[in-house]
Amino acid sequence: MAYKIYRHGNRKEKSIALTFDDGPHPLFTVSILKSLAEYNIKATFFITGKDAEEHSELVQKIIHEGHEIGNHSFSHKSMIFRSIIFIINEIEKTDKILKNLGVKGEIYFRPPYGRMDTIARMVLRKMRKKIILWDNGPKDFKCLSSEEVVDKVLKKLKPGSIIVLHDGGGVDRSITVKAVDMLIPEILKKGYKFQTVSELIS
Ligand SMILES: [Zn+2]
Repeated sequence: MAYKIYRHGNRKEKSIALTFDDGPHPLFTVSILKSLAEYNIKATFFITGKDAEEHSELVQKIIHEGHEIGNHSFSHKSMIFRSIIFIINEIEKTDKILKNLGVKGEIYFRPPYGRMDTIARMVLRKMRKKIILWDNGPKDFKCLSSEEVVDKVLKKLKPGSIIVLHDGGGVDRSITVKAVDMLIPEILKKGYKFQTVSELIS
């Protein structure tokens, strides 16, 4: 277990990881879980401590269905220009909540907005955290249709890709929900295997 930043997995293997940030949400996450179950695919959900506390039963549902859960800070406040104490607190508090809800093993971290400054990197290095960023972020929150999300993901899809989509965060994610259902069969058709982040980077 050592500090390392990942943006993708092995480029030589036709595997990818689907990741979801800012959930869980009682409507959008549950619909996404249905699509994942239909194709028997495992994904990784980066959850804030605040949302995990609010939707603990959903966190347990995600675990129960065999998906992976990562730490996305406690409050989703940017980690830029923060004190060491603030950063440690955001991460440790969330790890504790996730563990209490049944998350097992090493918990990976994804900083809010994917951003860290020198201090945040130093703290995370001391905490020996694995940082999971992405190489395939279609900015689904800016897309006007599910088709646009699907197109953008497929255009950038490569062996080892880490895809990031959003299933919560207090806004309507129906475009993303529908995109996931369209995207899975397209990715499978191209011969890719879906893996959790820990499988992809192992
Ligand atoms: Zn986020």
